[in-house]
Amino acid sequence: MSKVHVKKGDTVVVLSGKEGLRGETGKVKAVMPKEGMVVVEGLNLIKRAVRPNPRNPQGGFIESEAPIHASKVMPICPSCEKPTRIRKKVLPDGTKARVCAKCDGVLDTK
Ligand SMILES: [Zn+2]
Repeated sequence: MSKVHVKKGDTVVVLSGKEGLRGETGKVKAVMPKEGMVVVEGLNLIKRAVRPNPRNPQGGFIESEAPIHASKVMPICPSCEKPTRIRKKVLPDGTKARVCAKCDGVLDTK
C-alpha cells in the first residue's frame, strides 16, 4: 500500500507551498509513491530548456509540471466540493470505496 493518499485522477488543492501555488487546484496526473510526490496538471510549472529537435526545430523552453510533495495536497470531494480527508469504506454490496470523511460521498470504488 502506498502512503500517498491521493490517486491519479483525483482533484486536489495545494495546502502549502510557495506563493502562486498555494490554494491552486488541479487534477492528479501521476503519483510517485516511492518519492511521496504527485504531479498535478497545470500546477508547479517549470520551464525546461530543450535542444532543437524534429518536433521543435527552434529549441527553446517548454513548460512542464514539477512534482509536488503529496503531504501538501488534499483531495477535493466531488460531492461537497471541499478539501477533505479520504476514508476507506466497504459499501453494503461489498464494494470497497474511497469516501469523503466529511459528507460520506463516494470518490471512487474498486
Ligand atoms: Zn464530501
